[in-house]
Amino acid sequence: MSSVNPSRSGTPVFPEVPAFFPSLDTAAVRGPEPDEWCSSLVTPLVQTTTYVQRGLGNHKGHAYSRVSNPTVDALERQLGALESAPPAVTFSSGLAAETALVLALLKAGDHAVVGAGCYGGTVRLFRQIFANLGIDATFVETADAANVTDAITPRTRLVFVETPSNPTLTLTDVQAVARAVKAVRADITVVVDNTFLTPVLLRPLDLGADVVVYSTTKHIEGHSAALGGAVTSRDERFLERLRFIRKATGGIQTPWHAWLTLRGIKTLPLRIRQQSRNALRIARWLQSRPEVARVLYPGLDSFPQRDLARRLHGELHGGVVAFELVGGVPAGESLLNRVRLCALVEHVGSVETLLTHPATMTHADVPREQRLAAGITDGLVRLSVGLEDPGDVIDDLDQALGARDRDVLGPAVTTSAQRSTEGQPWVATA
Ligand code: PLP
Repeated sequence: MSSVNPSRSGTPVFPEVPAFFPSLDTAAVRGPEPDEWCSSLVTPLVQTTTYVQRGLGNHKGHAYSRVSNPTVDALERQLGALESAPPAVTFSSGLAAETALVLALLKAGDHAVVGAGCYGGTVRLFRQIFANLGIDATFVETADAANVTDAITPRTRLVFVETPSNPTLTLTDVQAVARAVKAVRADITVVVDNTFLTPVLLRPLDLGADVVVYSTTKHIEGHSAALGGAVTSRDERFLERLRFIRKATGGIQTPWHAWLTLRGIKTLPLRIRQQSRNALRIARWLQSRPEVARVLYPGLDSFPQRDLARRLHGELHGGVVAFELVGGVPAGESLLNRVRLCALVEHVGSVETLLTHPATMTHADVPREQRLAAGITDGLVRLSVGLEDPGDVIDDLDQALGARDRDVLGPAVTTSAQRSTEGQPWVATA
């Protein structure tokens, strides 16, 4: 639809990114190629809502930016190239992408099997939006493929998994789930949310998934500057249908955020590999601390699915670490109120190191029983490791954990805003 992209000379403004670069690192830095329109090395930001037609219907491939835009096109070809797939379809946010893909695949009366450990907003979407449209979902722990196939009914059209799960980092063997689902019924679409690992560490389409969805807001853009979502697939008909849904519902990525995301992608492989190394170092340090009850990170020998982690991602496991403090809620409150370098935010996957309390922030809308069943206890803390010197992050966590010990001797003064309400120890921000 929007891939026709001729310049005045008739050659494409943004020539197609070659489908197969010699390596993903090269694809990240070098695609899209310099544009032929003015030979800018950096993809131009085409900040417009509309395009002049030389005569009725006589335009250069773009008519209105709710349907397509050259900068957005470039991002879509870039994201597709990272997965050896056709151009992706991009959206204004990860949740806009998820909404459109469900609308493209399901109708009233259909059923989805959804990972219980998916991002809280995904769970909310199925429970509070799609349920009202007559689309049911069953939530299962997808670490065991048998749980997924057991939940399949004659009405099931979609299986939606996220690996690692958010925030408990439980892994799903994408290949095992895809094989098991297809053995039951080949027409069920298997979707993987690959936001945490990105194509650098996991390529679900190569493992049998039909569709991959991203919040590009996270690692892919990577600088906490642009919202976005993307869907990749090798099924051209599905992508075409998704573009139609996007045109009809209006959730397209903006040119400016597409441009920022393109810039972020150039350093994605470098960033996520370094964040993985930093995360392992910090996870090991956390494990050595008496104040920490348990640390969850796929790179640790103590990780329950260590062998699967090695098989799925090799030696690098992403930048997200989860840990539980001895002393539960008060200990967590103390830590989160005292960090100085780590930022307390509802976000993950950026160059800064970020701390989140899932129970009251990202997963606040997930019913408590369901949260606890998914391992998201009140005291669980999620650390998204950035690119600072990991020694500085360790020093920050060290002083914040130490402050807890000082509290035992004499409590620090906390403001009323910092004080918890019962069962809601940290202030929920959204
Ligand atoms: N998927 C995952 C794994 C996420 O962490 C998030 C957001 O935190 C989303 C999807 C939704 O993305 P967005 O915030 O861009 O709508």
